Amino acid sequence: MGKTTLIFKTRIVVIGAGQAGLSAAYYLRQKGLVPGKDFVILDQSPQPGGAWQYRWPSLTLSTVNRVHDLPGLPFGDTLENDHTNVRASVAVPHYFDVYENTFGISVFRPVKVSVVCRRDGRFRVETDRGMYSAEGLINATGTWETPYIPEYPGAALFEGIQLHTKDYRTADVFAGKQVVIVGAGISAIQLLDEVSRVAGTTWVSRKPPLFREGPFDESAGRDAVAIVEDRVRRGLPPGSVVSVTGLPVTPAINAMRARGVLNRLPMFSEITKTGVRWADGREIDADVILWCTGFRSSLDHLTPLMLREEGGGIIMTGRLATQVAKDPHIHMIGYGPSASTIGANRAGRAAVAELMATLGMS
Ligand SMILES: Cc1cc2nc3c(=O)[nH]c(=O)nc-3n(C[C@H](O)[C@H](O)[C@H](O)COP(=O)(O)OP(=O)(O)OC[C@H]3O[C@@H](n4cnc5c(N)ncnc54)[C@H](O)[C@@H]3O)c2cc1C
Repeated sequence: MGKTTLIFKTRIVVIGAGQAGLSAAYYLRQKGLVPGKDFVILDQSPQPGGAWQYRWPSLTLSTVNRVHDLPGLPFGDTLENDHTNVRASVAVPHYFDVYENTFGISVFRPVKVSVVCRRDGRFRVETDRGMYSAEGLINATGTWETPYIPEYPGAALFEGIQLHTKDYRTADVFAGKQVVIVGAGISAIQLLDEVSRVAGTTWVSRKPPLFREGPFDESAGRDAVAIVEDRVRRGLPPGSVVSVTGLPVTPAINAMRARGVLNRLPMFSEITKTGVRWADGREIDADVILWCTGFRSSLDHLTPLMLREEGGGIIMTGRLATQVAKDPHIHMIGYGPSASTIGANRAGRAAVAELMATLGMS
């Protein structure tokens, strides 16, 4: 006799309970849907907080860009008075915890979605804790699980340590070492700042960093989002919003300039046993290569749905480009133009309205 598999049937499955997933859950509740019945929200992480629970300890509320409020409950309401030096990995998970409780959003965790496929006109969502079946899908799985490290010849030969931003905890472990830091984004700069205080550093990046002098107003933010939105509407891989906003010149960056550690070199061409080598033959020794080269969208579980175009992107449509053109029953938030805390919020609202219309629920 075959084994019977129990399947939890619901109307909508939300995958991921970070800023994007919680925002979607809030609007689903507002439309009268009951969590745990009409929709379920699944998250593989052990605690509330999305990827924020994994951020390195020195990332505090004074060093993050800005964590935008979730709908209906300001972040500030959950903070102590003097909070600037509070770890982001503590404050944001606390906020999300309060948020889930305030709005009765019961997240099923830890539940890791391994595969989503089409079965009899519905989505079959396979997890490490059972199976779900739904008519609509909101994917909000972020990027943290998918660190990106570019390939360079010789990487396997290197006898030192290679790490990614995702692995970084504290600079102390690099004390007295020679560290090559790769990347031109905010994380690269922040980790260069910390590591250069205790170790010898060489900073390299493929493109020169794009420093932005002067204030970054709302219209500049909108322009940056529009560039990424245009890309995903054309089915191109999104690129990060931050890559088009540039790096704000903060007092910390000016202090790094004054310390003489902000000397960027072009990318090396190969990795050797003992360090890195440039195309002109120049070489340096290194104990560590720290790849601050970003993340890609965590979408492997959606592979059977064959959403990607040849170039690797997914054609997105809908008001805020959250709807998958190939299958309007799928929305992706925190992807492309909504990959920021403010973008994820707005996208949650648009995705819920459009998905419910597609499913004939509104
Ligand atoms: C170092 C760093 C600093 C940043 N600082 C800022 C900032 O200051 N301001 C800002 O606006 N943005 C910042 N960002 C971008 C930021 O991550 C996003 O804005 C936002 O927090 C992402 O929310 P999200 O809900 O899309 O993803 P996440 O917070 O990553 O949440 C995704 C959730 O999905 C879950 N998940 C993933 N895969 C699965 C699966 N297969 N099954 C079940 N669950 C799954 C994860 O457990 C996670 O809880 C930063 C990013 C990084 C890397």
